[in-house]
This record gives sequence, structure tokens and C-alpha cells, in this order.
Amino acid sequence: MSLLPSVLPSGPAVSDVTTTLAQLEAALALAKVTSPKETAIFICAFQDCHRLYPSRERLMAHRKRDHNNSDDTDRIITWNE
Ligand SMILES: [Zn+2]
Repeated sequence: MSLLPSVLPSGPAVSDVTTTLAQLEAALALAKVTSPKETAIFICAFQDCHRLYPSRERLMAHRKRDHNNSDDTDRIITWNE
């Protein structure tokens, strides 16, 4: 097994001129493109927990259940508010 070097060589970023429209459309069947607005993420930053939740409500339910703490509304990492 070959390993990647710890530092990869840099190269100029160029436009993709080889992918065809048909290949792009075929890729839509394999994956979904989304955005931070469409895929909300709330990360519990309490005590190195770092579990992910799709809403603040779900995160707070987890915090109450797993950390026995529902008063602390900070230490939440999100870009959706
Ligand atoms: Zn947590």
C-alpha cells in the first residue's frame, strides 16, 4: 500500500474542460448537492462531545438526556442562525 506524502505538491487551479453535461447529469443520480441553509447542522460543543444534530431543539434534547444539562444554551456551533 502506498501512502500519501505528508505535504502534497501544489498546482494551479484550472477549469474543468473534460467533464461533459451528460456526466454531470449522471452524477445527480449518485449524490445530492446541498448548501448550509438546506442542511442545518448544530454541533454540541459541550465537554468535547461534538455530536451533530439537525436542529437546536434536537441538540437541546440530547444535552438534557446525555449531559443532564438543559440550562446551558451556549457552546453550540452552528452557521444556521
Ligand atoms: Zn453533547
